[in-house]
Amino acid sequence: MNPNSANKVDKDMLNNLKSWARANSPWAIHFNSGSCNGCDIELVATLTPRYDLERFGVLMRGSPRHADILLATGPVTRQSRDRLIRIYEQMPDPKFVVAIGACALTGGVFRGTYNCLDGIDKVIPVDAYIPGCPPRTEAIIQGLVALLGSLKPTPDAEPVTEETDV
Ligand code: SF4
Repeated sequence: MNPNSANKVDKDMLNNLKSWARANSPWAIHFNSGSCNGCDIELVATLTPRYDLERFGVLMRGSPRHADILLATGPVTRQSRDRLIRIYEQMPDPKFVVAIGACALTGGVFRGTYNCLDGIDKVIPVDAYIPGCPPRTEAIIQGLVALLGSLKPTPDAEPVTEETDV
């Protein structure tokens, strides 16, 4: 076998392995950029034994440098904008953002107010949107599972790598 194609096979296998690991055990961080805490309470409920988000491999982390997924709640306020961007930039690639709740999607009830910049995607890219005010715990889990499903490597798909945007 040509050494170059052997290297490519090794690299593809490694990328597939990394994609598989990421889809089955993603690490996540939560950031509230101005929520009323309703969405945060529903998100915290996903971690309780009743809903047990960890059964899907999702682990919450305290540092953005360890996180694959940013779980964002609330509208973006002028005060939180820079912190949200800093946290996003500190996450390693590839990274994914989930906007949770009407406020994170559009600004919700705070939309158009003097200190609100509306939805998360006005500031950073968003990969998954979970609507609701607040979304039910089950809806948050469903949205996360759908995102994880899209990260799973398939035979025909390019593996998600540091160089490939999703
Ligand atoms: S979507 Fe509803 S529950 Fe969530 S932060 Fe906005 S107002 Fe609060």
